[in-house]
Parts: sequence; C-alpha cells; structure tokens
Amino acid sequence: MSVRQALVLSSGRSGSTLLDRLLGLHPQVRSLGEVVHWPKTLTLDEPCTCGERMTQCPFWCSVARHLQHSLGIDVLHDPYALDMGLIGATHLRDEAYYTLSRRMGNRFAQAWLWAGMRMGQHWPLPLVRRQNLHSLAVYEAVRALSGSAVVVDSSKQYLRAISLYRQEPQHTRLVMLVRDGRAVLHSRMQTGLGMEEAVQRWKRYYQRMQPCLAASVPAHAVFQLRYEQLAASPQDTLQQLFRFLGLDPCDVLSRDESDVHMTAGNAMRFKPLGAIAPDLRWQTGLPADARAYFEQHAGQLNRQLGYHDD
Ligand SMILES: [Zn+2]
Repeated sequence: MSVRQALVLSSGRSGSTLLDRLLGLHPQVRSLGEVVHWPKTLTLDEPCTCGERMTQCPFWCSVARHLQHSLGIDVLHDPYALDMGLIGATHLRDEAYYTLSRRMGNRFAQAWLWAGMRMGQHWPLPLVRRQNLHSLAVYEAVRALSGSAVVVDSSKQYLRAISLYRQEPQHTRLVMLVRDGRAVLHSRMQTGLGMEEAVQRWKRYYQRMQPCLAASVPAHAVFQLRYEQLAASPQDTLQQLFRFLGLDPCDVLSRDESDVHMTAGNAMRFKPLGAIAPDLRWQTGLPADARAYFEQHAGQLNRQLGYHDD
C-alpha cells in the first residue's frame, strides 16, 4: 500500500521546518508545514510562504473549496469549523479560540490517548476521531489538487501523529526527528524562553513520546532521524527518506523550491533554503551555567538519543 502522509515528530527548534522543505523538493511530495494551525492562520490572515495572505492564497483557497465538497465545511467563512487538533502555540495564538474549555476538552482527550498508547492501545474519543477525519480530509484534498503522492505534516504533535498512524497504518509514516538537546536549548533561549522551561519542554517531549511510539507503532513505520545527520549529509539522508516513503530517488538538492505553501512553522520557511549545513552555534554560544543545568537535568536523555560528548 502506498504512503500518503508523512508526519514529523520532534520537539520545537529541532529542524522540522528544514526537513519538511527538503522533502517537499521531491516532485511527488507536498510540504504543508504545521498544518494543524491552518484554521488559525486563515482566521488571522497570516502570510503563506507563497507570499500571499492566507485568504488570498490560490492553493489554500482551492483546498478550502475541495473541503466544502468532501467534509461539507466552508473553511473560508468559518475556519474553525475545521479542527485538526489544538496545539498551544508559543508566538501566534488566537485567544478568542484558545479558550479554557477548548483546552481542557483537548487535554482530556489527549490524556486518554496517551494512557492507551503507552499500552499499545488506540482510544480516540469523538473529538479525536473528528480531528483525524479533518486532518485526513485536508491531506486528501492537497494530494488530489496537486497530484502529489505524499504530503508532509510537520505539526510535530506526537499523540496526533500516532493516532493518525493507528487510523491509517498502511498509508502513514512517521519521522522521529531529534537534535542535540543543548542545541535546542540554545535556540530556545535565543527566542527568549527561560533556561529551565526550555530544558523541561525538550525533555518532556522525548520522555513522553518514546514509550508511546515504541508501544503503538511498529519499527518499520518510523524513520529515526538526527538533525545533524540531515544537515551534514542531506543528499544521502534524503534518498533514505524517499525510499522509506516509497518514492523514487531524486536529486532534489539541484531543484529550486517552487509553488510552496506552508501554513505555519518556524520563520525560516520564508527564507531561501541556501546551502545546507549543520547549525552548531550552541557549541560556542551556550553559556556554561546552561550547559551545567542541561547536563544535570537532561544529559542522560541526550546520551540515550545518541549525543555523547562535544
Ligand atoms: Zn500559498
């Protein structure tokens, strides 16, 4: 059975936007960015990576029209009728939508999913079923309109990704992306996040995600990828990823990005891709106290993920 959707699982600031864009260079692949946020970016009329505002982007407008037929939802007039999941956003939040009751409802449904997934069970409550239905309808619309075989969703939320896998195992593949936690800490501190919170977020993500993934998804459906490997040898790594996704080999690095419409994600999605090289600024830029704090609280997990000494 063919792969239709690839979902990236990673903590923030780990290179998921880069990965999404690189995969999207393949003629059979469409990058969606953090598509779970599309209803919000549409409501707030944020820019698409094509340069248009969301409400004016021809690509997303045609996806919206397609959804009117497939789901019976008029996304352009009522974006939040489409619900692909609720993820707390750090910089762009629509407070009118991100209400306490909505957050609590999602938290309960996710806690229930998490409890099941740790035992290899899939317990989607009606809210999750609806979110999965909507996500799959968006993927389907994009594939139908673009003629692509695979869409890449870098929304990163692992419970959602595993639930989508469990719903369509034959068509879904997961890419677990990791980056040296010290680099993530450095990057997050650069954006103004406090050291302790930055370490805890990174640690929590992998500590909670790994048991769910191990219990709920067979190894053949997961590609374990290190950011450093992707950035240092993009050509080889991408060919391995294409094979994993059932796609033909393609020299994508000689191709230009064109017609890219990513809904949300890291601001690097608006910049030219340029030469690919590992970003190792943390090695000189991470303060000694932050290194020591990281080592004390997350050093063991970092080593377990394959990061040994500097
Ligand atoms: Zn666009």
